[in-house]
Amino acid sequence: MAGSRDYYEVLGVGRDASDDDIKKAYRELAFKYHPDKNPDDPAAEEKFKEVAEAHEVLGDSEKRGRYDQFGAAAFNQGGAGGGFGGADFSHMDLNDALNAFMRSFGGGGGGGLSDLFGFGGQTRGGPQRGSDVRIRLRLTLEEIATGVRKKIKVTKFVHCKECHGSGAKPGTSPKTCTTCRGAGQVQTQRSMGMLGTFMTTTPCPTCRGTGQVIDDPCPRCVGKGFVRAKETVEIDVPVGVSTGNYIPINGAGNAGPRGGPSGRLLVVLEEIPHKIFERHGDNVLLELPVSIATAALGGSVEVPTLDGKARLKIPAGTQSGQLLKMRGKGIPHHRGFGTGDQFVSVAVWVPKRPSSDEKKLLKKLGDIQKKNVPGPRRPGR
Ligand SMILES: [Zn+2]
Ligand SMILES: [Zn+2]
Repeated sequence: MAGSRDYYEVLGVGRDASDDDIKKAYRELAFKYHPDKNPDDPAAEEKFKEVAEAHEVLGDSEKRGRYDQFGAAAFNQGGAGGGFGGADFSHMDLNDALNAFMRSFGGGGGGGLSDLFGFGGQTRGGPQRGSDVRIRLRLTLEEIATGVRKKIKVTKFVHCKECHGSGAKPGTSPKTCTTCRGAGQVQTQRSMGMLGTFMTTTPCPTCRGTGQVIDDPCPRCVGKGFVRAKETVEIDVPVGVSTGNYIPINGAGNAGPRGGPSGRLLVVLEEIPHKIFERHGDNVLLELPVSIATAALGGSVEVPTLDGKARLKIPAGTQSGQLLKMRGKGIPHHRGFGTGDQFVSVAVWVPKRPSSDEKKLLKKLGDIQKKNVPGPRRPGR
């Protein structure tokens, strides 16, 4: 990490900045670079750690005074004489930076970070949320066109009924962890050389953040608080969905350990290819073979649609490959207004092995048509 480690520069304030200026600058930068807002962005994470570290020093009048007096020399861990350059300052890690951020803006712990940003992220310090369960739901085009309520069986972890998710043998109960006194977190001191120490909060190693220990585990779930089970879930699938769309259902995923809240159920939708209809967005297309007579003379034919049979008028003189539109017989638009159309591609049917009767008539027709058939032409005319 090259460049200046000047804390004033990091926060973009002058050396005469007031406590308020420093706090304001930190707030702005910390929110901007917070990892929840910049997932998988190492540069933002680096900035976030940097501004937290700068604020940790400049936001504390005693540390700020020492920094102003000793400058970079104050960073030398162990003070092995090096002055500038030599020994490296033990920088804040992400956990420290997040904790510092929480102390400044997070209020009283709990959901803190995610509440601040309105994200549904993992809560820190509380009971752990269960993981998401992903299932695939296959739908027919008819179901997609009307919307459908589906019952599906989901195999997942549910809270153990024997111990009600506590993980403790029935009749006993989890005990408050003596290491963290039930807080689920422990505070440790982190030395920052001449700058003194920082308090840092980490999940309790004894109870892994739950705040409780179980002496007598529940025999059914062996202390986990959840067991594997099959559950039936009802899902309302809206009209007009497509393959790849998914429906998230909060609280229907895996149960969290030790009574923690359940994760999400993600229902990933998949369209079953239809035997007759080809989907094009909200429109559907099918091919309809008609006899030479119907194509030439016109007529009314029965065609399938997504909501039952309908009649379609074939105009006289319809050509092979011509598209006829059946307005509003397609798929309703997902989350919008209007409905797609059904397109019928007319295919004039030619018998492969004509009967003798057909042969007789076709020969006669051929004789009559001999002079009428147009010559070679550019395709698509
Ligand atoms: Zn149990
Ligand atoms: Zn503990």
